[in-house]
Amino acid sequence: MVKWVYTFGGGKAEGRAVDADRLGGKGANLAEMASLGLPVPPGLTIISDACSWYHDHGRALPDQMKAEVLQGIKGIEAETGRGFGDSRNPLLLSVRSGARSSMPGMMDTVLNLGLNDETVQALGHISGDARFAWDSYRRFIQMYADVVMGLDHEVFEEILDHEKARFGHELDTELTAVEWQHVTALYKDVIEQELGEPFPQDPDVQLWGAIGAVFASWNNPRAVTYRHLHNIPSAWGTAVTVQAMVFGNLGSSSATGVAFTRNPSTGAKELYGEFLVNAQGEDVVAGIRTPQSITEAARIESGSDRPSLEKVMPEAFAAFQTICERLESHYCDMQDLEFTIERGKLWMLQARAGKRTTRAAMKIAVDMVAEGLIDEKEAVSRIEPSSLDQLLHPTIDPRVSREVIGSGLPASPGAATGEIVFTAEEAVEAEEEGRKVILVRVETSPEDIHGMHAAEAVLTTRGGMTSHAAVVARGMGIPCVAGAGTMRVDLRSEKLIGIGGVTLKKGDIVTIDGSSGQVLKGAVPMLQPELSGDFAQIMEWADKLRRMTVRTNADTPTDARAARSFGAEGIGLCRTEHMFFEGVRIHVMREMILAEDEKGRRAALDKLLPMQRSDFTELFTIMHGLPVTIRLLDPPLHEFLPKSDEEIAEVAAAMAMSPKMLRQRVDALHEFNPMLGHRGCRLAISYPEIAEMQARAIFEAAVNAARQTGEPVVPEIMVPLVGLRSELDYVKGVIDRVATEVMKEAGLEISYLVGTMIELPRAAIRAHIIAEAAEFFSFGTNDLTQTTFGISRDDASAFIPTYQKKGIIEHDPFVSLDFDGVGELIRIAAERGRRTRPDMKLGICGEHGGDPASIHFCEDVGLDYVSCSPFRVPIARLSAAQAAIKAGR
Ligand code: PEP
Ligand code: MG
Repeated sequence: MVKWVYTFGGGKAEGRAVDADRLGGKGANLAEMASLGLPVPPGLTIISDACSWYHDHGRALPDQMKAEVLQGIKGIEAETGRGFGDSRNPLLLSVRSGARSSMPGMMDTVLNLGLNDETVQALGHISGDARFAWDSYRRFIQMYADVVMGLDHEVFEEILDHEKARFGHELDTELTAVEWQHVTALYKDVIEQELGEPFPQDPDVQLWGAIGAVFASWNNPRAVTYRHLHNIPSAWGTAVTVQAMVFGNLGSSSATGVAFTRNPSTGAKELYGEFLVNAQGEDVVAGIRTPQSITEAARIESGSDRPSLEKVMPEAFAAFQTICERLESHYCDMQDLEFTIERGKLWMLQARAGKRTTRAAMKIAVDMVAEGLIDEKEAVSRIEPSSLDQLLHPTIDPRVSREVIGSGLPASPGAATGEIVFTAEEAVEAEEEGRKVILVRVETSPEDIHGMHAAEAVLTTRGGMTSHAAVVARGMGIPCVAGAGTMRVDLRSEKLIGIGGVTLKKGDIVTIDGSSGQVLKGAVPMLQPELSGDFAQIMEWADKLRRMTVRTNADTPTDARAARSFGAEGIGLCRTEHMFFEGVRIHVMREMILAEDEKGRRAALDKLLPMQRSDFTELFTIMHGLPVTIRLLDPPLHEFLPKSDEEIAEVAAAMAMSPKMLRQRVDALHEFNPMLGHRGCRLAISYPEIAEMQARAIFEAAVNAARQTGEPVVPEIMVPLVGLRSELDYVKGVIDRVATEVMKEAGLEISYLVGTMIELPRAAIRAHIIAEAAEFFSFGTNDLTQTTFGISRDDASAFIPTYQKKGIIEHDPFVSLDFDGVGELIRIAAERGRRTRPDMKLGICGEHGGDPASIHFCEDVGLDYVSCSPFRVPIARLSAAQAAIKAGR
């Protein structure tokens, strides 16, 4: 029989932190804290399977579950000494969502449940504060009507505004108990008018309504978008936690707050958080009131004149500090905590591993190894490889002067420049047009996440370090300045007004420095990032732990140098064609392509030879003895030719040719499906003189570099788009012949390898035969994906997003390897290739070589190396280490 409900409280719990799959992150950690004997209000958690049950059964709840909930509530009553619906001593409950992985603010919550016309009186009585009781009741009605009954909260805002004006008040806090009571009556009236049914007075009805609504909110559009962005399966569902209410809004000895056990932005070992006196939890994260610092040190650093928790409630602060230390050493990780202080008594409401910037994640991991909390493997496993992107982003050059027009909290590090937009929709439109934008909002809400994704950075004028904008931007790794109180947004006129009245309008350029909190006018020079400090330490550990080597795809000396500085251990792919596009080279290349016969082609190739030779010499020198794989010319030749009439006229004039003749030649080279046409090794077979020139350039460069550096150079020459062994034999024949010639001319022996890319299904299937001629394989998964799926890689973007939206495929197979299809071909080729040649080197050089999930697959198949673009090299190093750890190496 399914156990639907797990209870916790009073120093005991039925579940534990490891049960997050069933209990959700929130329920599992509340259970863990309760079992540690920490002060947690008693409650119960309904498992996430109930969410699927609810959706599969026409939004109904299983009877057995209801019985278990009622039983659980009896336990809460016993623990608190209060009765649910009791007219003298009522128990009030909160009903909250809690998914397996946190989805902050995406789903619904109901607080103060159990209040009705009767229990509100009792609450006033026992709290000795009628005003508090009526305020809580009206909050509950408003929340319940919105979340459960589907009535927009604006109708309530309107009533409240109207009544405040009538009573002559400006702030909510000025309303008296009687006035709130009056507002409450109006709220109930409007519900009945609008919905034709009264606000439910029966606490049981309220309870089932709220539980159902939280399950329903799993499928609200916000949550669906969030899941899509974070790859959270919809089958997981959310758990629901029902817990006794504690009140942070019971006067000046009550408070509510959120805190991190270490600084989530820098990783520094210091308690870091915010709180509000006399407030309910939602008030802190909503960013409506600007919160106060928890510690005195943080208050002083922020220059705030409002007292810290340490100062105003020293006893509760001390208790909280002890709990923070206990939880951190219990979980061996930085914690994100929510707490409430009710009349001086501290209650813990939530604990979870805190979200942090990548920089903080590195520092925390390195520090925790030094503190003996975790080992190096664990430290390496904790860093999300794709998040390294954050550290590989530019920062503002400290040498330039800054025109600061505003400042706020340094909520998420890194710097970015872009045009100002004021809505999420504008950000998305701009991104689609290829424009870079900064999303500027008073504050953000979960509705804005798609716009935040599209933006380079986010600026808000309200809210703290734990506001929605700050938390979400840190998670996304985009820079964010939050709560820039020195600036004002005028949405009506679409203007951003900064210090001294500087006014920028929509479309103007600003730079956001999320590391300092500054907002600068215009674009500013940026510095490229480098590997140092904690980052370097994590990379050093990762390098010790990984099995695969990491090479880079580099076509130019600049790429090669950048890749070396990021730790590349060789070049896995040099696409030689990229060397032919620059400066005068394109003219010579065109001369070669347009030549009438072999003689003409050879004349042009003679001019290209020294250019290629010097490029290769430089690459070999930069790589200093590390392996360098050079691929022979791959793309269809007409890619090098002019297309428009103007271009044709220009090129014809430069080549002393008639435009008509040129047009004819260009047309003759036209292909219907160039990606499946005259390209790859097919070019070397049609025009062996091209392969000959490239081989000569490679071998002569190897001789030069070996003489210059005094170290042997072992070039790896790679033949593209091979499907038949006979193709490879033919091209290898040309290469071997040239090698012999050059060695003879130079009087120097050069070792070299000739291998092939595996980028056609036929090559994968015939790998054992091809391996008789090939000394290495490199999986060209861009083409292999294209040819396996029969999807043109250049046209895929027209429908892949639709496929993803409609759930036909989960990931874009050109970004993350299709394990089942393309992956199967890789497995077959690796196994068959090694059957023929057991020590054959296997690598990957398609885009997937820099994708963490694909790298895990490569480890699994036993490839020797992955090769990726220079900026992804650190990501690949870390992913390769994590893959090796996972494989138990
Ligand atoms: C590939 O096909 O995966 C590859 C690396 O080659 P290119 O992208 O140049 O076709
Ligand atoms: Mg290819």
